[in-house]
Amino acid sequence: MEVLKGVNLALKEKTNEKSEVKKVIAVMSGKGGVGKSTVTSLLAVSLMRQGYKVGIMDADLTGPSIPKMFGKNDEHAVGDGKGIEPVKTDMGIKLMSINFLLEDKEAPVIWRGPAVTGTVKQFFTEVNWGELDYLLVDLPPGTGDVPLTMMQSIPLDGILIVTSPQDLVNHVVIKSINMAHKLHVPVKGLIENMSYFECKNCGERTYIFGESKSREVAEKTNINFITEMPIDPGMVKLVNEGKVEHYLRDNTKFSEKFESDVLKFL
Ligand code: ADP
Repeated sequence: MEVLKGVNLALKEKTNEKSEVKKVIAVMSGKGGVGKSTVTSLLAVSLMRQGYKVGIMDADLTGPSIPKMFGKNDEHAVGDGKGIEPVKTDMGIKLMSINFLLEDKEAPVIWRGPAVTGTVKQFFTEVNWGELDYLLVDLPPGTGDVPLTMMQSIPLDGILIVTSPQDLVNHVVIKSINMAHKLHVPVKGLIENMSYFECKNCGERTYIFGESKSREVAEKTNINFITEMPIDPGMVKLVNEGKVEHYLRDNTKFSEKFESDVLKFL
């Protein structure tokens, strides 16, 4: 925890005066590829299905994947002099991502820390979010500059941690949980993704990466264990096609469990 010395834990100065955002929840992971952006998208869709007004701020500037998941990668966000208009998904989820502001979507964002953190702060303060019940923030993986800035300067109501069995084995996720604890941001709980594969014919579950450790980790770090999610090739297909909004509608068994497990923690 030595690295956190000098951080002003009380610094929460940034607000968005043009918008009324009721709850801001950040989604964090220990490392990349565990399904953090997929879970963020599914959460947003679940909340919309309950009738809430929802936005997603894609704070993963070097690996933005939210626009593509919703089939909106070719869109551009426009400013009106007062702020930047978010891009709306087919269901009406409001999105902001660096990809909406780049001419060349394939150009890498090679910025130093202050430019990155300045941009994500502006995503909060300068975007016309309007009235939102939930703003979900897809953080970059790990415990670097951006998660630190978000926890310090945006009034977060909580953090959801997404992990995978491999992540748990490597204890990477515990660093994220400890960071949130240290910065006094409430942790809503832990979601384990890619926990098992379920045979479509016989229903048998195979724990590909071995027995789950997420309940143990949640208990050890004093946070809620929220749910575990299967590996589903159908999810990869829809996500890659930009149709993440269809997943919950088309997979009733999954959506019933996911929504009953997760929504009560938000
Ligand atoms: P992260 O945001 O943690 O880097 P992503 O959400 O971008 O991870 O997911 C990485 C890849 O894994 C994507 O191709 C996504 O479709 C896939 N994926 C995520 N969750 C699952 C799952 N439960 N089953 C199958 N594939 C998944």
